[in-house]
Amino acid sequence: MKSLMFSVLFVFVFVSGCNVKKTEIGESQKNSFSPKGNWIDLTYSFDEESVYWPTNIPFKHETVFEGINDKGYFYSSYKFSAEEHGGTHFDAPNHFGQNKNSVEKIPVEQFMGEGVVVNVTEAVLKNRDYQITVADLKNWENQHGLIPEGAIVLLYTGFGKFYTDKVSYTGTAKSGASAVPELHFPGLHPDAAKWLAAERKINAVGLDTPSIDYGQSQDFMTHRILCDKNMTMYENVANLEKLPPKGSWIIALPMKIKGGSGAPLRIIACVSN
Ligand SMILES: [Zn+2]
Repeated sequence: MKSLMFSVLFVFVFVSGCNVKKTEIGESQKNSFSPKGNWIDLTYSFDEESVYWPTNIPFKHETVFEGINDKGYFYSSYKFSAEEHGGTHFDAPNHFGQNKNSVEKIPVEQFMGEGVVVNVTEAVLKNRDYQITVADLKNWENQHGLIPEGAIVLLYTGFGKFYTDKVSYTGTAKSGASAVPELHFPGLHPDAAKWLAAERKINAVGLDTPSIDYGQSQDFMTHRILCDKNMTMYENVANLEKLPPKGSWIIALPMKIKGGSGAPLRIIACVSN
């Protein structure tokens, strides 16, 4: 049953997301679902350099066993520990929304959608505290048409090139509570979050900085607005410079943590050619 569901999911993903060379199910042919497009990984590897919030404990990966065991064959196994909100990760609506969906309650359809990549690199070059505006989103629409229903809106600030240099990427090398006022990086303005929530029906918003609220935010209003509408967010997204403004299909699968307010995220894009 599980493998059947998996195949059904893949048929859906490929058919709806990338142009497929359609082959009748049942035909014994290899790669019946091979998509016409290039897959791009939008995920940073997790290691001790992964960027976590200054008050978080960094990611840890430890060896349980590695080498030739007493039976004479190679074996390795490790253990990891991580806070939910670090590295490339997912924010569930219950992160700032009381009684909103935790990770395991989110419908799987919400984990994928057409990529809308809003390039704000020029504005961010002039101001690292830049907050993406409604005008930036409308500017994208003027060039590419309405943001489609179910879209995944990715804000390309250009900050990805700084990952994992903490000073350039977050504004500070410090850790702990005293580091928080020193955070300087761009984010989505609360008015733009409100507009997206009210005027468009999208699945998620992601960006290439540590938080959807800009670094200097005190009240995390953008998070609160989006979470209240049961919307999901992706933070520390990699490789946004490799995506076109439109014409990609995004799949973003968080670890299914019961009750989780967020989780490590594996996010990939298929760019149709
Ligand atoms: Zn988060």
